Amino acid sequence: MNFLPGLVTCLLACGQGPADRPNILFIMTDDHAAHAISAYGGKINRTPHLDQLAKEGVRLDRCFVTNSICTPSRAAILTGKYSHKNGVPVFNRFDGGQQTVAKLLQAAGYHTGMYGKWHLGSDPTGFDQWKILPGQGLYHDPVFYTATERKKEPGYCTDLITDFSIDFLDKRPKDKPFFLMCHHKAPHRNWQPRADKKAKWANIEVPLPETFDDVYTGKSDASREATMRVADHLTPNDLKEQPPEGLTGRDLKIWKYQRYMRDYLACVESVDDNIGRLLDHLDRQGLRDNTLVTYTSDQGFFLGDHGWYDKRFMYEESLKMPFLARWPGKIKPGTTSGDMVLNVDFAPTFLAAAGLPVPGDMQGQNALGVLAGNSPKGWRTDMYYRYYHYPADHRVQPHIGVRTLTHKLIHFNKIDQWELYDLTTDPREMRNLIHEPEQQAKAKELKERMLALKKELGDSDQFADQQPPSGVDGQPRNRK
Ligand code: CA
Repeated sequence: MNFLPGLVTCLLACGQGPADRPNILFIMTDDHAAHAISAYGGKINRTPHLDQLAKEGVRLDRCFVTNSICTPSRAAILTGKYSHKNGVPVFNRFDGGQQTVAKLLQAAGYHTGMYGKWHLGSDPTGFDQWKILPGQGLYHDPVFYTATERKKEPGYCTDLITDFSIDFLDKRPKDKPFFLMCHHKAPHRNWQPRADKKAKWANIEVPLPETFDDVYTGKSDASREATMRVADHLTPNDLKEQPPEGLTGRDLKIWKYQRYMRDYLACVESVDDNIGRLLDHLDRQGLRDNTLVTYTSDQGFFLGDHGWYDKRFMYEESLKMPFLARWPGKIKPGTTSGDMVLNVDFAPTFLAAAGLPVPGDMQGQNALGVLAGNSPKGWRTDMYYRYYHYPADHRVQPHIGVRTLTHKLIHFNKIDQWELYDLTTDPREMRNLIHEPEQQAKAKELKERMLALKKELGDSDQFADQQPPSGVDGQPRNRK
């Protein structure tokens, strides 16, 4: 289908010229958990610039990822579709020929840019300007790719991506609105901070999370099988120094946690500084009032929670994405929302903000009403989740699940084991209720709902057995 004539007709009918349409600045990080943002009540660090964004806009408290891993979340965000519809359930190559939010905005007259971590295995499509890291990229003196060149850039990755984004703003055509994706690598593993931030965090004691000593009693075998325990699976490359001699047991686990968290939070601090720098630049250009600014991360992350690092599981710390949005005059300052918004909603929301129709095959919904504090009638009260990637990299069993406003049901489908949590009484998910006699009615209700959502979303297990082709790590292949 050719979508162009429809868009042009709509724009004319809506009377919107390019100058009336808002700019969209979409800032995303990689693996930044909401509980490492002070605006979310996080107690382990301060993020003044993100907090300022929250003060000036809305904070979503139930923003969830539909498949908690980097590449699949990015594909879901671009297409507004679940993994089984966009073809990226694991680390497989994204088909850039398909419909994306960037292409639709570009076709409607937006000047589009993408800077930083892309990690989709194919080159970006739908962008007037782009400069991306190959695969995961490096923190220090990273190589970047454009459509025509491969160049090593001296400096720190988070600073560089911000520099490129600012340059895009400076050089943009002024007669067009812009759509800018500023997508940081940080704070992805293996957490390499800038030297000054590393020094600052060197002796800070980070508080332990409540579930640090979880031993997975009553849970499925999936928790025990996962190889992402702070105590056992952080590598010398992650820790970057040898533990003090003689340290064992829980003391050694705490030492590893401190090493991990200091580097992680030092990386987050550079992210926060750079968001301040980018938003200041937006202000200096007089763009504040007509720009929708959103901040998110491609998924959440375990920060020692349940004894883990990494993500993948449908548990809250991994499922929850931070999401802050500012749009003066449209979004009330200092508000929060508990409505469920999913990563597949971002594309429809950006299109709606631009006054464009949302294509019928996008599975997400326009969440502008939620952001503005006027939730649409009949807004969703539950969500469908599916994770595929196994056994690499951390032996997290594939699973399918449903989360409502109060409960969560997870089916580890390859080993046929179930978990059920009441999030109102057990928000940390420490008590699996699946075998409790009085919970069987709830379990049955949620199982039926999960299967109904699966069917409704067109998940017919088409990717149930797909795993990444060996050697593929989101690396564009047209340059060496
Ligand atoms: Ca990620």
